[in-house]
Amino acid sequence: MFDYLIVGAGFAGSVLAERLATRSNKKVLVVDKRSHIAGNAYDHYNEEGILVHKYGPHIFHTNSKDVFEYLSNFTDWRPYEHRVLASVDGQLVPMPINLDTINKLYGLSLNSFEVEQFLESLAEEVPVIRTSEDVVVSKVGRELYEKFFRNYTRKQWGMDPSELDKSVTSRVPTRTNRDDRYFTDTYQAMPLHGYTRMFERMLDHPNIKVMLNTDYHDIIDFIPFKEMIFSGPVDEYFDFKYGKLPYRSLEFKHETLNQESYLAAPVVNYPNDNLYTRITEFKALTGQKHPKTAIVYEYPKAEGDPYYPVPRLENAELYNKYKKLADETPNVHFVGRLATYKYYNMDQVVAQALTLYKKLTEKSEEAVKVKKPAITGSASIMDKLVPRDPAKE
Ligand code: FAD
Ligand code: UDP
Repeated sequence: MFDYLIVGAGFAGSVLAERLATRSNKKVLVVDKRSHIAGNAYDHYNEEGILVHKYGPHIFHTNSKDVFEYLSNFTDWRPYEHRVLASVDGQLVPMPINLDTINKLYGLSLNSFEVEQFLESLAEEVPVIRTSEDVVVSKVGRELYEKFFRNYTRKQWGMDPSELDKSVTSRVPTRTNRDDRYFTDTYQAMPLHGYTRMFERMLDHPNIKVMLNTDYHDIIDFIPFKEMIFSGPVDEYFDFKYGKLPYRSLEFKHETLNQESYLAAPVVNYPNDNLYTRITEFKALTGQKHPKTAIVYEYPKAEGDPYYPVPRLENAELYNKYKKLADETPNVHFVGRLATYKYYNMDQVVAQALTLYKKLTEKSEEAVKVKKPAITGSASIMDKLVPRDPAKE
């Protein structure tokens, strides 16, 4: 009998397996339908011996000390600050838009203050910022929006930024200084030996059994367990009762090139040209030295493995119907990017999983407390059985 059946060996499932096994001494079975652990963060050495991320570039960044310290139990880190160039008007310019982006694009030599005024002069007044278009045009105006955001977003999501929640393009800031880092989080680093190695260490415990190539539907009737933790798509769990929740997919085209390096930056975005959105060169992320180099192209697709929840009002409403069902399903806990339909980064999923773990332990502590009066009760009966000392009476 397992205490927990955990569906999915990504961040959500693996963090919970690790905590429950090591901290609560629970017996855990982790199943994943894929042939590997680590979910979408899975990395491996390709046929040439270059470490690549099978499901596209995964860069770790967080402001949470707790999350960083937690993961540091399972890996050493390689400090890494991510940088991206965008191919616009035949030039490669820093993305997020910053002082150098503007100066290079328009052949100017503005300072920080001047570029702020320049952007203010371009910005459109938007009374209420609701959509991903509003976010950008209210900061940098329509021309830069068209150059950097509109077509990239249409390619990535299959819809116009005006149809997407503001949270999508809000992920990318605008700067008037020369900071060209993609993220500004306190902790930015890559697992020194890769993500998969980190997951191996998380799951390496006698209380944890991992079954790969296994859809949970195929074993659920045969393996006894007390509670389930589910990190797959929430609509699938409920047999699409209210219809399909839209997820955006990608096709990854991996290549190894017979040259030591290829790109001018770790990632180059192509907002306006090509069918792919971006190219990543893995050695720039991992720091690996190798005479050849490995890259990946990302081609967005409607169908295929679910990678991105699509943040827009009607989808949030549909998700809320599933969430209600999920909340009403006893002994099944939903966690992770697909199961809670949230456009979460890795660190946010780790934080969500740690929070669920806390909730589960509080729940079992509550259960013990509820039982306690009975124990106290029997203890008082025991007291009564203690031979009386008539002298004290
Ligand atoms: P997943 O990793 O998707 O794990 C869920 C697992 O459940 C999967 O392995 C799946 O096979 C399994 N599963 C589903 N259904 C079943 C079933 N029926 N039976 C058995 N198993 C099942 N985050 C960052 O912080 N930085 C980045 O740079 C970054 N880049 C990204 C780039 C891309 C292209 C993508 C798609 C995501 C990126 N992310 C990034 C987000 C990151 O991948 C996720 O936040 C994280 O991996 C989510 O973990 P999870 O456990 O919720 O889900
Ligand atoms: N985006 C864009 N142009 C860019 C980079 C990002 O329009 O050059 C928009 C696009 O809608 C994208 C979103 O901003 O989906 C978030 O970008 P991010 O790099 O965070 O996407 P992810 O790495 O999650 O795919």
